[in-house]
Amino acid sequence: MRGFAGCNPGESGLHSIVKPSLLQNPVFAMAAEQFDQVADFLDLGEDLRERCKWPKRFISVTVPIRRDDGRTEVFFGHRVQHHLTRGPTKGGLRYHPAVDLGEITALAMWMTWKCALMDLPFGGGKGGIACDPRSMSAGELERLTRRFTMEMIPFIGPETDVMAPDVGTNEQIMAWMTDTYSTHMGHLVPSIVTGKPLNLQGSAGRTRATGHGVAFLASNALHQSGKTVDGASAIVQGFGNVGSHTVSTLASYGVRILGVSDVSGAIWNDRGLDVQKLRKHVARTGSVAGFKEAETIDPGQLLQQPCDILAPCALDRVITAENAPHLRCSILAEGANGPTTPEADRILNARGDVFIIPDVICNAGGVTVSYFEWVQNFQHYLWTEREVITRLETLLQKAFTQVTRMAKRHKIPHRLAAQAIAIRTVADAKNSRGLFP
Ligand code: NAD
Repeated sequence: MRGFAGCNPGESGLHSIVKPSLLQNPVFAMAAEQFDQVADFLDLGEDLRERCKWPKRFISVTVPIRRDDGRTEVFFGHRVQHHLTRGPTKGGLRYHPAVDLGEITALAMWMTWKCALMDLPFGGGKGGIACDPRSMSAGELERLTRRFTMEMIPFIGPETDVMAPDVGTNEQIMAWMTDTYSTHMGHLVPSIVTGKPLNLQGSAGRTRATGHGVAFLASNALHQSGKTVDGASAIVQGFGNVGSHTVSTLASYGVRILGVSDVSGAIWNDRGLDVQKLRKHVARTGSVAGFKEAETIDPGQLLQQPCDILAPCALDRVITAENAPHLRCSILAEGANGPTTPEADRILNARGDVFIIPDVICNAGGVTVSYFEWVQNFQHYLWTEREVITRLETLLQKAFTQVTRMAKRHKIPHRLAAQAIAIRTVADAKNSRGLFP
């Protein structure tokens, strides 16, 4: 790849500035290591390898806002648009203190593979603001969101880059983004983001889509392993958007939810948690802690308890070289992005007794229904929840079958198979378009 002024990669220019600083971020290093393995497997030529790997655009902005106490505070926000080859970039916006450019780049890269695997007409994007939304008032969050959206206006649009909720953001944040962008354009532009409230042309089924997909694929994996779903057991880490809906759908299939955790701690009930009561408790108190019909358990130990399905649905790098040898699940359903480190992956693959549903397919329900929302917005359709969920399950089932067949045929791990299908798709699209000029 040529850097600025025709510099060689690794010597000087953009490449040598951006690459080392990105590689220092452990989440990006993980995504890059996975990419390199897949590129080796596909025997991708050096030029395509470089073009597929590196993002098209990095946008970093400062976001000054007035705090409630009158102070002005400056936050740092990022948006990475990984690939525009197959359509606009698509991906979440994260509000979390640990947000940085390397992490956002890794997440954007995974979004590209996810969209390609699901055959959606998008490239991957991801954004984030380094902030602690739990310590901010609604007014401060609104000012932060509106100012960030204004800073992004030159770089986003329904045909360019479309954001959605992720960790620390929700449909209210998407509503403020829609309003800011629409006010700027002079008319309502619902297709600027997905994951909006229904009254602003959000899609039925979008809120539960990611968790529903995690549970749907976990039940498929149980079937493939010759086990019955009704009466199976599950442990779920995280009880936000993804975790809580994973729990609800699994429970609706008759799966016993033995334990769940969130940032406040972990809870356990041998007979299975009463999910309805737990949801009410969390709606009332804001966390799973203190739920009366359960015992507390160490959050680290929770992941190592025996169960059929273990679904990490909170953070990256929680399945590590330390706990991977001790996992006692048959299915690892990766609801979160990047929950398993490459070392843990190697350990689990060598063990061979854990069916991994890798993140790029496991949590693809969210972006798939975001695609449905975007299509409905353009066409002014309003699909029913049943239509949305049926279409979602059809696409997930198709991609899952492709991944498991490819893994069997080549005797490779599911993660490698999933990313290989995706990266081949992106590389082929780049080949077809050729290199401009
Ligand atoms: P969220 O903010 O709604 O929820 C995050 C949850 O994780 C909260 O319950 C929080 O308490 C919990 N958590 C934080 N730290 C924890 C810890 N140390 N131990 C246990 N739990 C902890 O976020 P979300 O939208 O549910 O996203 C969760 C993951 O799923 C992220 O990796 C995100 O990128 C991924 N994801 C989200 C979507 C989506 O549609 N929201 C789609 C695809 C992937």
